[in-house]
Amino acid sequence: MGFTSYLSWSYSRAKMYKEGCPRMFFFEYYKEGEDFENDARMLKSLTFPKMVAGTVVDWSINQAIKTFKESGESMYDLPFRGVKTFRRLIERSPEICRGMRTDGGYQPPRESQPLHGHFYGIPVDDGELEGCEQRISNALFNFESSEVWENIKDVPTEKWSRTKTNSDINAEKWHFKDDLLVWASLDFWYRDEDRLYIFDWKSGMPTEKAKADALLQMAIYTLWGRDCQQLPVEKISTQVVYLSEQPVWEPSFVPAAVVRIAEDTIISQYEYEKRKLRWVGQDRRDNDIYEANLEDFEPRPELVRCLNCKYRILCPPGQLAAQDPRND
Ligand code: SF4
Repeated sequence: MGFTSYLSWSYSRAKMYKEGCPRMFFFEYYKEGEDFENDARMLKSLTFPKMVAGTVVDWSINQAIKTFKESGESMYDLPFRGVKTFRRLIERSPEICRGMRTDGGYQPPRESQPLHGHFYGIPVDDGELEGCEQRISNALFNFESSEVWENIKDVPTEKWSRTKTNSDINAEKWHFKDDLLVWASLDFWYRDEDRLYIFDWKSGMPTEKAKADALLQMAIYTLWGRDCQQLPVEKISTQVVYLSEQPVWEPSFVPAAVVRIAEDTIISQYEYEKRKLRWVGQDRRDNDIYEANLEDFEPRPELVRCLNCKYRILCPPGQLAAQDPRND
């Protein structure tokens, strides 16, 4: 029986619930109290080259923001530094994965990025790594030479959001409709006069799916602005900054109808998840504790999904499904 004392809603949690496998969701969010709790915690840190590339882009932009805030100077050679950081993280991954495999429950160092491929013995493609380096380099070049960054630098830094560090996993959290805890991981925001500007950096391409997903994400951020910055939604501008191309300055507010859809989505997904759980009491901080039964979160084995699943080592049906006959 697994537990959670922080039943909450976040965009990534809802996405995983909707698109993924229920058993994978259990390993991610309800492992507390299970025999495999430490192993599941360890496996949660596994990642993929493209995700590392996105992380490096975020870290590099955070560093550029911090440097400008502290010194008023722009950082020199952001793309070069970003690629160097990526290479260092990838180089360290095999050794960290060896530790994870031989020492069950080993928790990888903070900021490390152990690759799923190194852990599961799947060759990491050099071409993919080169593509990631190119993606980082382009994204950071486009960021540092963009009018978005130029305009942000014109805003007094005391109006900027707090500076994030590389190991900063804290997101903004607030109580939505009084009791539902919602998390939103805002990349950067500032408040100017009576308006709020929120930005999200994306290193991937602006595909139709990416844009639809991002609209919901911006609606969630707008809710945070409305509830925590006490502003009407038409005073909250957001921009998804796609760094695969040279971004232009185009913050805009999310239409009220989309914000209402986001509210309904949060509530319905939260209620749906809660129906599978049993309330068992409160912890010392008055958080509700829910119990989840592993059997209620069935595995949905499917070759590609299981091959790419972080938790496969804990999941016999997934191991079976991942035995790709082409590998024999
Ligand atoms: S290995 Fe497959 S079935 Fe098992 S949790 Fe992962 S995705 Fe689900």
